[in-house]
Amino acid sequence: MNRCIFCDIINRESPAEIIYEDEFSIAFMDINPVTPGHLLIVPKKHFRVFTDMDEVSAGELFSAALKVSRAVRRSELKPEGLNLFLAEESAGMQEIFHCHLHIIPRYSGDGFGLKIKYSDETKNQLKINAEKIRKIL
Ligand code: 5GP
Ligand code: ZN
Repeated sequence: MNRCIFCDIINRESPAEIIYEDEFSIAFMDINPVTPGHLLIVPKKHFRVFTDMDEVSAGELFSAALKVSRAVRRSELKPEGLNLFLAEESAGMQEIFHCHLHIIPRYSGDGFGLKIKYSDETKNQLKINAEKIRKIL
């Protein structure tokens, strides 16, 4: 299955509040914004997850994200900051399996946050875990 709701938006078969589009990427407002101005940058080609992307498409996605992020910061929304968030797989909180990057404008006291549980065990494994990644690169 290489089609989904985001493909339908890209093909103009489902409505969305589109704010930007180029050859590789499209940006539209998230239907359930967590803060005012919350939007999604989406590659036009259907990649299920971020790590399926080719480097050109990923580079273009992040170039578009930079352009749109600057526009959001300069806009009348006047966010005090931004978060960029990308969910991969269900464990990473992905719900729509067409890769996308969230741009979330931030305002003091807006209530958005991540729940974090630090553990000493993970901290103690820092060097070992670094080597597990380093040896693949
Ligand atoms: P994630 O997969 O990163 O967890 O989140 C998917 C995001 O897509 C959610 O923030 C959700 O509100 C948004 N979303 C889901 N369906 C639609 C849709 O049909 N249109 C738009 N504009 N956003 C959607
Ligand atoms: Zn898709």
